[in-house]
Amino acid sequence: MNNTHSAIIITDDLKIFVDGIPDTCDHDDKGDPILWSASGKTIHWHTYQQWAHLPSRERHRLICDYHDEIEDPVVGSCVSCSKCKKPFSPPMF
Ligand SMILES: [Zn+2]
Repeated sequence: MNNTHSAIIITDDLKIFVDGIPDTCDHDDKGDPILWSASGKTIHWHTYQQWAHLPSRERHRLICDYHDEIEDPVVGSCVSCSKCKKPFSPPMF
């Protein structure tokens, strides 16, 4: 486990990833996964309550399908740390 995290700065039309920020938290990946769409919408596990009870892999598939349908595709995701709640290590889709 490295001791840096990636900050995500989201403005209306811009997302900036900042890697290698020194961090004192020993992050885990047990926090909530966070997705975001092409329009900049942030999607938490509870955003779509009808899918909130599903395992995250299943839920993500449904969310991705749904956002493809409404032409606002999911373009990124990350997990957050359950201790400090910071998003970190955005995996690639
Ligand atoms: Zn942390």
